[in-house]
Amino acid sequence: MTGSIPSPVIFCRAGELIPGQGFDVRFLELLETAVAELGKGKPSDLRAPWALKIPMNALGQTNAVLPRWLQAVRAGLKKGGHNPDPMFDTLSITTAGLDTADGMLERAGQLDLLDFFVVGDDPHNPAGESLSLSDECALPAITLSTVAAAAGGLMLLNSVLPHPHLGMSGALFSLGCGVLDRESKLLLHRDIRPTVDTPLCAGCGSCLAACIFDAIAIRAGRAFIDHQLCTGCGECMTACHLAGISPEDAARIPRFQKQVAEAGFAVASQSRAAKSDCLLYANFLTPVPRQAAGGFGRVHQKPDVKGVLVSSDPVALDQATWDLLVEGDIHGLRQWSGFLQEPGPLMERAQALGLGNRQYDLQLRD
Ligand code: SF4
Ligand code: SF4
Repeated sequence: MTGSIPSPVIFCRAGELIPGQGFDVRFLELLETAVAELGKGKPSDLRAPWALKIPMNALGQTNAVLPRWLQAVRAGLKKGGHNPDPMFDTLSITTAGLDTADGMLERAGQLDLLDFFVVGDDPHNPAGESLSLSDECALPAITLSTVAAAAGGLMLLNSVLPHPHLGMSGALFSLGCGVLDRESKLLLHRDIRPTVDTPLCAGCGSCLAACIFDAIAIRAGRAFIDHQLCTGCGECMTACHLAGISPEDAARIPRFQKQVAEAGFAVASQSRAAKSDCLLYANFLTPVPRQAAGGFGRVHQKPDVKGVLVSSDPVALDQATWDLLVEGDIHGLRQWSGFLQEPGPLMERAQALGLGNRQYDLQLRD
């Protein structure tokens, strides 16, 4: 999967929204064309439709991929000769109240997606496809969600946000964590032990509200984490606007990142879609202003997409996304006032495994 030639990454830049005149139609056309172009080179199996993994389970609107973007992606896949059918998301380990099948379906209803949307893991029949990891990885086998296991092709759509363990929620995050079942996600995260930097903590309680595992209490005006209850999900680290929660042992973050790369490689080499070479990725760029740090800020944040990057190489795609969001003219991640990591170990491990190429050829469409 890795080569010496930079991998193509198509960047469809969104124009400015004109008040009263609706959405940027040109952007939707660019997106549809880019997806059609990528999909054309892929074999098509009409008996096994493509599935679109979308971010349904997030807090707030920033992390929702809007229905019109989804329509453009579906139209692009059809033009490319494919049969896009289910849209799905998998059960999250966090995300306040949406971590159940009912919560996700309710959110799909709010976004007017109920006709297309299915929950990716079947809570009544959790047996997806078991994938094996390399001997170097300390994790036991992981399980693909049922929808991802059955799909003839997979396109992973990600709305990029800061992520406390990985830097951002891009294609590698979706591949190495997002299409797994909930138990496997818990396995991946359990190594992280967050700790409160007591002098930094103001006792505001944002982290407590973000923790659905009731692992946080406020004692003597400071947050306290009960590690017996903590799953390592990291939601509290994102919620703290003072960056007052970080991993107890700094070495655990690179280890986590490498394990996500391992899991991603297992999905990208062992799934049915991977065997047909039918995996595509899209990262929507939604800059996050500083004041949106913390769960409550994210709930009220409106999507403000600056563009979308699409590629068949998840490493090139994430590297290009990171570069644009951190160093390019689309700012966002560096303004984030919560805990933020560099994704270096994730990218390095992903490239070393042959999952993709950090060198990319950015092709601008606007
Ligand atoms: S969110 Fe941060 S400042 Fe607020 S209680 Fe938690 S650790 Fe302390
Ligand atoms: S304490 Fe933080 S990392 Fe642990 S379960 Fe709660 S939100 Fe997740």
